[in-house]
Parts: sequence; structure tokens; C-alpha cells
Amino acid sequence: MIVKIDSIGRITVPQKYREEFNLKPDSEANMLPLPDGIGVSLFRLTPRCANCGEEKGLEKFDNISLCENCKKILKYAIM
Ligand SMILES: [Zn+2]
Repeated sequence: MIVKIDSIGRITVPQKYREEFNLKPDSEANMLPLPDGIGVSLFRLTPRCANCGEEKGLEKFDNISLCENCKKILKYAIM
């Protein structure tokens, strides 16, 4: 998809992608350069479960977020 950069360097993330990747106003994203200087990628910074990707009901353990379901699974796996 082609987007234009405005006079002060802004781009608009197309609605299709805002919806697909749940990008809301004031969402934070990480922009990283791609290899060989071909461009950049944008990554949403919404916390997710490290095991399944769920975004709701997360609890942090050190630097890892886990959802309720995965927390239960791991609890039984450790016991
Ligand atoms: Zn999970």
C-alpha cells in the first residue's frame, strides 16, 4: 500500500491496517529500520501474552506477560 509523507514527515496509517492491528489514537508503536536501508517497519507496542498473544488479563512475571489461561497452564506444568 502506498502512503505519502507530509511536509513535516508524518504518514497516515491506512484505516485497513489501523483496524487489522488494533492501532488506536495514542497507541504506541516502535519503528525499526529494515536491513539494507530499504525502509522501516512499524510494530504495535501493546503488551501481549508471551505464550499465546492474548492482550487481556495479563500479569507480569519479571519481564514476561502471561494471560490468565497460560498462567494456569504453566502453574500445572511446574507442579
Ligand atoms: Zn496466554
